Amino acid sequence: MSALEHPADATYWDACETWSRDRLAAHQLQALQSQLRRVGRDSAFYRRRFAELGFEPGDLASLDDLRRLPLTRKADYSASVAANAPWGEFLAVPRERLARIHFSSGTTAAPVPQFWSHADLERWADLYARYAYGQGVRPGDLFQCLFTYTWFVGGLGATAGYQRLGATVIPAGSQETERQIRTIFAFGTTVLCGTPSFMIHLGEVARKLGFDPAASTVRSIMVGGEPGGGVPATRRRIEEIWGARCYDAYGSLEFQTIGFDCPEQGGPHIAEDFVHAELVDGESGDPVPDGTPGVLVLTHLDKEAGPLVRWWTGDVVVRDSSPCACGRTHARLIGGVRGRADDMLVVRGINLFPSSVEEVVRCQPGLADEYRIVVDASVRNADTGLLNAIRLQVEAEEGADPAALAAALTAAVKDRLRVRAQVEVLPLGSLPRSEHKAKRLVVEP
Ligand SMILES: [Zn+2]
Repeated sequence: MSALEHPADATYWDACETWSRDRLAAHQLQALQSQLRRVGRDSAFYRRRFAELGFEPGDLASLDDLRRLPLTRKADYSASVAANAPWGEFLAVPRERLARIHFSSGTTAAPVPQFWSHADLERWADLYARYAYGQGVRPGDLFQCLFTYTWFVGGLGATAGYQRLGATVIPAGSQETERQIRTIFAFGTTVLCGTPSFMIHLGEVARKLGFDPAASTVRSIMVGGEPGGGVPATRRRIEEIWGARCYDAYGSLEFQTIGFDCPEQGGPHIAEDFVHAELVDGESGDPVPDGTPGVLVLTHLDKEAGPLVRWWTGDVVVRDSSPCACGRTHARLIGGVRGRADDMLVVRGINLFPSSVEEVVRCQPGLADEYRIVVDASVRNADTGLLNAIRLQVEAEEGADPAALAAALTAAVKDRLRVRAQVEVLPLGSLPRSEHKAKRLVVEP
């Protein structure tokens, strides 16, 4: 669908957003049956895996049958690429039919490719348009895209989606903060997207340059790439700075795109016509019910080029499949992504995600917006290596008393997270500012 074919007064972009849960499940089963047949035939990785298991895609009689298949993990993907460089064995269309290749960041391992056909790109653009439409963006809106375009899916993905919707796109990228601000104010930008860190940084710099972001024409901000969009205090901060609504967008390289915040802002709705979502226990892999934290496992329902089956996202979420006040029936991830299963810190037996620390820091008056969690020898038990506290670096706003701030934050962390924190209050501007994805968890040996 494109804006030209779309009735201007429709409440929803796509009729599937309000299908009954039964209809969604029927759609998923039918889509999975044909998808697994294709994947088992055309993807060398899954062809071998299905054969090893004796799994016949035609045997899939219910959605639960999918659990007969093992999880696909990043390590499986990397190993496949390493053994069959540079393409790996997940490609399920001829190389010549690829429309786009994106790559993983390569921060923790060698970069690996992910693939899109022309039809996959159309699907991606339409999902992005659906999200933006749900967040009140309409044809004629002026959208400045501050996701980066180089080696990252966000910039091109958002651009295609907002263009499809009928908005006017300024492909600005995530550099040149001052130029971004001058463009917003000169042209009357109405919608922004970027990482939560960059939206805050942009607001701080705008004020220094003598602009009032809250008085700008910006009325809607979509944030992604970091968990901040799901952290209530961070979202409030962005909304205060810009005088605009802030919506969380959830995607990943492999499943660009997964879900979006609706106007209720209760957590992203998963696009359940595009992915089949399971929530599993991080240790046992058993299914966990709605309302309980679990790791999100996703299967593409119709992706052509690089389809994935039971992909371990590593993202810890809490699902709610009950109807939302917005009228949409697709399940929501309450509070967004809580953290990465890999980033979870265990402090004296208490599970802690960096995003919960962010919520406490941002709620504390007198502190600036940046912070850093450092895990090093000073908070580790020398014998066991287990953590007995966290080290937290923050910045004081001008005129605030560092000692009083440190005491107040230590007490707040103890009170709300039940762990001990060693707080260092630094002068304003000491910690690095980020235009792309901020690195706020520093683990040292
Ligand atoms: Zn909703």
